[in-house]
Amino acid sequence: MYPSRFRYEAPRSLAEAISLLHDGGDYVKVLAGGQSLVPLMKLRFASPELIVDINNVPGLGYHRADPDGTLRVGALCRHVDLERSQILPPTMTAAAPLIADPIVRNRGTLVGSLCHADPQGDWASVILALGGEVVAQGPGGQRTIPLKDFMHGPFENALAPDEIAVEAVIPPPAGQRAGGYLKLERRVGDFATVGVAVAIETGPDGAVNRAGIALTGVGGSTIAATEAALALTGQPLTAETIGQAAARAAEAAKPRTDHRGSADYKRHMVHVFVERILSQGATDHQERAA
Ligand SMILES: Cc1cc2nc3c(=O)[nH]c(=O)nc-3n(C[C@H](O)[C@H](O)[C@H](O)COP(=O)(O)OP(=O)(O)OC[C@H]3O[C@@H](n4cnc5c(N)ncnc54)[C@H](O)[C@@H]3O)c2cc1C
Repeated sequence: MYPSRFRYEAPRSLAEAISLLHDGGDYVKVLAGGQSLVPLMKLRFASPELIVDINNVPGLGYHRADPDGTLRVGALCRHVDLERSQILPPTMTAAAPLIADPIVRNRGTLVGSLCHADPQGDWASVILALGGEVVAQGPGGQRTIPLKDFMHGPFENALAPDEIAVEAVIPPPAGQRAGGYLKLERRVGDFATVGVAVAIETGPDGAVNRAGIALTGVGGSTIAATEAALALTGQPLTAETIGQAAARAAEAAKPRTDHRGSADYKRHMVHVFVERILSQGATDHQERAA
C-alpha cells in the first residue's frame, strides 16, 4: 500500500527542524532511519500530515566516549556504526549485530529505536540495563530524560510534539563492565520472541557495584527487572546470586502465549538467558583474577 498524502520537509539545522515541528500542525513526525516509520505509513497505521526528515541536519551521526567514559550516541548514528564500533560496553556490543538484518542496520538508528518504543525493540532493553538517558531538544532548550521514564508504553515516548531526541547517553562505568544481550528469534533478522539485556559493573573484589537487567518482547513494553538487578548489587557473582537474579527476572516477565511460544516457555527462556549471561560474567572475572 502507498502512504497517505503528506508534506515533506528536510531542514538543514536542528533549529529549523524544531521550528517545523513546533509550527507543523496536529500530526507531525520526525524521520530518522525510516525503518519503523515508513513501514507503518505504508500500512497506514501512521498517517502524519508532515514529515520532518532530519537526515540533512549535520553533526548528529556520531558516537563517542567522553574522557570520563560517558558514551554519547547521536540521533543519526546508524545500527551499523554501532555494530562496527570498538568503544561500546559489552551489552551493546552483543546486541548490535542482532538488530534486524544488514539492510535495516544500514539506515536505522539507535535513538530512533528508543523513540519508537516498540516492546520488541532490542536497544531499549540494552540502554535501560545500562542506566541510559535520552537528551531531548525543543524550542525551550534541552532536557535529559532517564530511559526508565522515557518509554511511557508501547509506541509511546515522553517527547513533546516539538522535541527531537538528539542523543542517547550511557553513564560511565562504576567498575569493570560485563554483561551481554541474548535474543531468541525464529530466524535471523527477526524481532525478539524473548530478549534479555544484562549490564553489570564489578569492583576489584568481584562484588557487583551496579547491575541492570531489562527484558524485550515479554510484556506490553520494555521491562526493567529491577528486583533481579537488586539481587546482585553488593554481591559477588555466585551460583546462588545468579540463580536469584534469574528467578526474579523470570518473575518480572509478563509474556503472553502466541504463535511464537507459550508464556511458560518465554518465562523459562528469560531465566535461562539471565543465568547464561551472568555465568559468563563470573567466569570472565575469575579468568581476569587468575
Ligand atoms: C524488516 C525489519 C526488521 C526489524 N527488526 C528489528 C529487530 O530485530 N530489532 C529491533 O530492535 N528493531 C528492528 N527493526 C526496527 C529498526 O531497528 C528501526 O531502525 C528502529 O526501530 C527505528 O529507527 P529508525 O531510525 O529507523 O526510526 P524511524 O523509522 O525514522 O522512526 C521511528 C519512530 O521514532 C521517531 N523518531 C525517530 N528518530 C527520532 C528523533 N531523533 N527524535 C524524535 N523522534 C524520533 C519517528 O518519528 C517515528 O515515530 C526492524 C525493522 C524492519 C524494517
